[in-house]
Amino acid sequence: MKKGLGSDKSIAFVLWIALGALVICVGVTFLHVFDIENVFEKEMLKSYEGHVDTAVNEVAFQVNMIRNMMESYTENVTNLRADEDIEDIIREQEMFTNGYDFFYLDSNGALVGSEESKRHAQLYYEISQIPIYSFSDNYTCVPAQSYFNDDMSRNCIMGVKRLEKDNGNIEYLIIRKDLTQVLNLDTFNYLTTKGDFAIISGNGNIIAATLNYYDDFDNRENFISSIQAKTADTNKAKKQISNIKKNIYTKISDRTKVDLANGERSLVCYGEVPRTHDMYYMYYFKSGTISNSIRGATTRSFIMCLFMILILLAMIVFIWFTLNESNDVIVKLAYRDEVTGGYNFNYFRMKVGSILQAHKETPFMMLRFDIMNFRYINESYGHDKADIVLGATIREFEKIFDKRKELCVRVNSDQFVALVANDMGFDDRYLRYLKGITDEANENSIRFPIRLKVGMYQVRKEDRDIDMMIDRANAARKSVDTTTNNLQAIYSDNIVKTMRKVDAIESEMEKALRKGEFKVFIQPKWDIVKDEIIGGEALVRWIKNDGSMVYPSDFIPVFESNGFIETLDFYMLEQLCVKLKELTAENGKYKIVPISVNQSRILINNPDYVKNVEKVIKRYDTDVSKIQLEITENLFFDQKDKMIEVINSLKALGFDMAMDDFGSGYSSLNILKDIPFDILKIDKDFFDEASISNASTVILKKILEMAKELNIDVICEGVETQEQVDMLRDFGCHAVQGYFYGKPIACEEFYETYCLNKK
Ligand code: C2E
Ligand code: CA
Ligand code: CA
Repeated sequence: MKKGLGSDKSIAFVLWIALGALVICVGVTFLHVFDIENVFEKEMLKSYEGHVDTAVNEVAFQVNMIRNMMESYTENVTNLRADEDIEDIIREQEMFTNGYDFFYLDSNGALVGSEESKRHAQLYYEISQIPIYSFSDNYTCVPAQSYFNDDMSRNCIMGVKRLEKDNGNIEYLIIRKDLTQVLNLDTFNYLTTKGDFAIISGNGNIIAATLNYYDDFDNRENFISSIQAKTADTNKAKKQISNIKKNIYTKISDRTKVDLANGERSLVCYGEVPRTHDMYYMYYFKSGTISNSIRGATTRSFIMCLFMILILLAMIVFIWFTLNESNDVIVKLAYRDEVTGGYNFNYFRMKVGSILQAHKETPFMMLRFDIMNFRYINESYGHDKADIVLGATIREFEKIFDKRKELCVRVNSDQFVALVANDMGFDDRYLRYLKGITDEANENSIRFPIRLKVGMYQVRKEDRDIDMMIDRANAARKSVDTTTNNLQAIYSDNIVKTMRKVDAIESEMEKALRKGEFKVFIQPKWDIVKDEIIGGEALVRWIKNDGSMVYPSDFIPVFESNGFIETLDFYMLEQLCVKLKELTAENGKYKIVPISVNQSRILINNPDYVKNVEKVIKRYDTDVSKIQLEITENLFFDQKDKMIEVINSLKALGFDMAMDDFGSGYSSLNILKDIPFDILKIDKDFFDEASISNASTVILKKILEMAKELNIDVICEGVETQEQVDMLRDFGCHAVQGYFYGKPIACEEFYETYCLNKK
């Protein structure tokens, strides 16, 4: 079975794929939402660091400018011409540079270039205290505030050049630069609003800073404690702070994140000011890197995400249910059989494989069956009632058999297929099943014995091909000989051979009938007392175009099981009627003896049977007394009433009715009393026995006596020897049919041989 749209598996598969894809999507989205904070933080850090770098570089630039200027200043001072004094040089320098103040501090503490003179001695002392190692090339840059104790120096830095005179005196060249303008740049404004910064010299003195750092104590400590005030009270944060502290005191450059008390993170940047000597910057962002607005945005995205997930989940659930529901509908449409209300053949073929797979230890049997004479149920009781029988076939199965591993469906018309467990209980289940169907039929006033013609195939472990199993079961079904009581057949290799024959017969039968290949042969019946012909039996022969003859035993059972026997029997009856009409027309040339025609039991079930017989005899204006009808007695009890009814009707038309093959199979003497036969044909098998066994002769005698009492004529079939003839004569039987008197011969030959009236 192809996996169709309605297959549970394929739908589940698609859904699982969808669900998997969704989970991945959701996961990725989640990660993204969380990552947004990181991305934002990274971006903010970048911009923070950018600002810090810009600021630090700006300061470094200024520091360098002072250094450059210091070079030319130094040169000018050292190469002082005789007509110049230092004051001239200072004025000259100040003319060309704006925002720079030039000073010259001689070893006496005189400060040239300055208005004020109060602290000159003090200034010299302080500057001379700058450790020698702070100078490189005798140059250093320091915050001006520390040396010029005026308001103006607040935002100033100064470059100091140490000049060692030949006489050993030390003099200093000083350039002061006001950084106020620089510090008013956007970058510094930005930084001051975002946090605190300080650029300090090696001894901790402020070069440039946010206002609150102009305190007396160590500015590094000041800086660190201002960070500390805002950090979280966690071990991690404490560790971060102590790390920062260590780095700053050892003048390491770094950028470190610290956890703040408000849950945010902040950035601390610190390091040497490039291209300066011993200048160090520190920056601390008070506001943190992850602003509340970003937090808010990520939280909102997170909630949106969750919301979307919930909606998607709801959709999946919805789709799942609708698919399942529509799947049910599809299954119902695709796998239901409307007539029986059970599953259909497609379902069966799909399901059997999985049942076999799931119950590997169970021996299984494939059954293929049909309801005997279903056509007549249909014709006698109507489609609705017949459908009830079809439905019952499924319903009763489902009641009695094990639903988990046994399954029965209708294939078409009255054809069924079933998979059953071939265990000890099977026979019992099967009998209950048959009874169940019949009971249900009876409840619906169908007085017709429900019998099933069953072909069985024993499933082997290695069998996989379901169609093969069904075909074999079907072959077995076709091989069932419906003239016997046993309506079950198990598949065997022989059946295949038989099947081929059956197929050949079935494919030819209709054509053969049209072409007149079925011939009427007649076997004489003899009066052994008077030693003269008393009648004949019409027996069919199939003589093919090539002259080969097929005997009834090869094709009658086939016709009985496929129903063609009905056509054939009517054909034989009609041919006989035609012949009788011809003979009558010959005006006494032939002695017209009664001829019996075989009527299959199947005919009885056709509600139109009697009517059809009547039509034939009317058409040919037949003298009914010259025709006898033979019906095999081997009947089922259930059909007795029906049988009596049909026989009475036929007798009413004027036929003599013969019970054929009495003594074979399940004969019962009782039946003679019940069914009004005129003639009793004792079967050749019985007669064979009678000639050898004493018991049988006793029975034969009794039968003859009883028949006489009941006023029934008796004729013995299969008489082949003089001995048999003599014995029968002794027993008081005078009618026989057998090879001893004549074999069946072609109709014309029969009349020429036995029936010519001597003139
Ligand atoms: P049956 O009705 O019992 O017919 C008698 C059979 O016994 C015939 O076989 C006949 O040839 C055979 N027979 C007659 N005398 C002797 C004998 O002394 N020894 C032996 N061994 N056999 C003898 P046949 O013609 O082959 O027919 C076989 C069966 O086929 C018939 O048995 C009958 O049941 C069925 N049949 C034949 N023609 C028709 C027909 O037109 N319609 C139906 N429904 N059945 C038919
Ligand atoms: Ca017969
Ligand atoms: Ca017979």
